[in-house]
Amino acid sequence: MRGQGFELEKGQNKKGKLVVISGPSGVGKGTICKQLVRRLNDVCLSISATTRPKAKTEVDGKDYYFLPREQFEKRIKECSLLEYAEVFGNFYGTPKDKVDEATAAGKTVILEIDVQGGRQVKAKCPDAVMIFIMPPTTKALVERITGRGRDAADVVQKRLAKANAEIEAAGNLYEYKIVNDDLEQAINEVMEIIRKANGDKK
Ligand code: 5GP
Repeated sequence: MRGQGFELEKGQNKKGKLVVISGPSGVGKGTICKQLVRRLNDVCLSISATTRPKAKTEVDGKDYYFLPREQFEKRIKECSLLEYAEVFGNFYGTPKDKVDEATAAGKTVILEIDVQGGRQVKAKCPDAVMIFIMPPTTKALVERITGRGRDAADVVQKRLAKANAEIEAAGNLYEYKIVNDDLEQAINEVMEIIRKANGDKK
């Protein structure tokens, strides 16, 4: 009997939580998410599917599942995505089976997705933890987006417009808003939110 109690205490029979992390491009949410997986036990990052072209530095199946548009549309029809959205003319979505598997195994799953996707997740899973990462200032955001050197000028303009729209849309949907002024501090604040959501007292 003692064994059973121990398992419950360890949370092995408890379904893992979903943690949605959104924020404008260039705000550092990717770095924060990677660190969460490194530093916290039983936390994993959902790998999204996308129709956008793969950048040279990206790896299929690690950064994203890069899919042709027809295959993505098939997934939409099959309802095999937890959420999806069109961003800058490309589809992005969260494969549902992987998320279900991980939460059933008691893992906390981080979804690094946009606000449109965040809204869908919150509607389907009301106890999802919603975290929005904010830039310290608009100037800092512009510098980060233009300074990445990854995108053409028109894409930079689109990213800036979407960034402003996302900050407005985040409104009441996200219960936590973290300003990424100091990266280490932002990581610690997000870790604290996740620990609390999982009922840890430390
Ligand atoms: P990027 O092309 O820079 O990797 O991502 C562009 C935007 O798409 C980012 O805001 C990112 O958070 C969002 N995104 C990435 N994966 C998903 C997803 O699975 N669902 C949704 N709704 N947005 C996503």
